[in-house]
Amino acid sequence: MMFITGDVCPLRGIYRYSGHPDNSKGCHSKWFERDIVLEIKQKFPRVGACIKPAQWVFVRPP
Ligand SMILES: [Zn+2]
Repeated sequence: MMFITGDVCPLRGIYRYSGHPDNSKGCHSKWFERDIVLEIKQKFPRVGACIKPAQWVFVRPP
């Protein structure tokens, strides 16, 4: 399952940043490795301070 910034979360869980839709790299100051916990109906965030949409993948239930 892959989601993009602004998508509505369908399943409570832990998600991990997995790059940008345009595959750009090096646009934020450091690689973002911290997983996030998202609740149902929350929107997927951006990654850190980066203004580009971010991709998120489901890791596991919280
Ligand atoms: Zn970025």
